[in-house]
Amino acid sequence: MKGKFNIHELVRESVRELRPYSSARDEYVSDGSEMVFLDANENPFNNGVNRYPDPQQRNLKALLAEQRGVATENLLLGNGSDEVLDLIFRAFCEPKTDNIITLPPTYGMYKVLAEVNDIENREVFLTPDFEPDVDRTLKNTDQNTKLLFLCSPNNPTGNRFSKKRITDLLDSFNGLVVIDEAYIDFSEAESWIVQLRDYPNLIVTQTLSKAYGMAGIRLGICCASPEIIAVLNKIKPPYNVNELTQQRALQQVLQKEAVQREVRSILYERHELMKVLPEFDFVVKIYPTDANFILVKVDDAHKRYSQLLGKGIVVRNRSTQPLCENTLRLTVGTQEENKKLIEALESLN
Ligand SMILES: *Cc1c(COP(=O)(O)O)cnc(C)c1O
Repeated sequence: MKGKFNIHELVRESVRELRPYSSARDEYVSDGSEMVFLDANENPFNNGVNRYPDPQQRNLKALLAEQRGVATENLLLGNGSDEVLDLIFRAFCEPKTDNIITLPPTYGMYKVLAEVNDIENREVFLTPDFEPDVDRTLKNTDQNTKLLFLCSPNNPTGNRFSKKRITDLLDSFNGLVVIDEAYIDFSEAESWIVQLRDYPNLIVTQTLSKAYGMAGIRLGICCASPEIIAVLNKIKPPYNVNELTQQRALQQVLQKEAVQREVRSILYERHELMKVLPEFDFVVKIYPTDANFILVKVDDAHKRYSQLLGKGIVVRNRSTQPLCENTLRLTVGTQEENKKLIEALESLN
């Protein structure tokens, strides 16, 4: 971003003026002493979840902040990153007026959220090697371009974007740059979180849904400047991360070594798959990947998808995405699952 950056100029007027709802659990914060809670109309009989959850998720945030080397003021947690992304739209994009930029082929939720929030989505296709086209991206911006979504490593292509191109976009774009790092734990690249101090217009999102193996509990992480986080905090639903999720997430994030073991195993299995896939004559191209999936171009994606389905294997046909004609996206499974995939591929004709 050029010149002096002022987040308050980007915030929607209604959000700037909003006085947030203050929940019971926001007004009184326990200091650990025995208190009688008669403030939130809860059922008093203890079953583990009869109380409202901590609206600021303090314990979980403290641990996540420590692991990421940031302050808790740099974090907002959501009901999956999908909620985090929606909050970003609602905080900064005025319906029917503002616009965003996405770089297809990419994660489908940005477009859906733009539609739901009545925001124009300007699509600037990636280059043939799936990198952002910096000049074309910047040419498509105007006064009302609030957000630019960069998914790196990118879904469904699997590659991470070049550092230089992301830096160029961060330097030149006057709105907020959202870097979606759902797959960062599978990549050798460092997270962009370390750049938060240098770029006040940077938002990094992460999730427990992929490497952490917790897609079912829905926990998304947003890292940004304390000013951006304060804006998002103002509009988030008070109890957006439920008690069971906070508890399970805390347990899992503490199991750092177990998670790393699983990631290493997935990376090993990915390597093995990358070795055998070129042997199939219907495989036309295998794209480089920094994620827990492999994008493969085949002779006829619809045909191969159906054949695999017939053998009990569900993959994702990504052919409708631009630049992805006849591609299948294969998630790396366990050794046993991958063996089944290979056997099924061997039996295709
Ligand atoms: C899977 C995925 C997410 C995760 O979303 P959650 O709502 O946290 O499960 C986010 N971004 C991308 C690009 C993904 O592929």
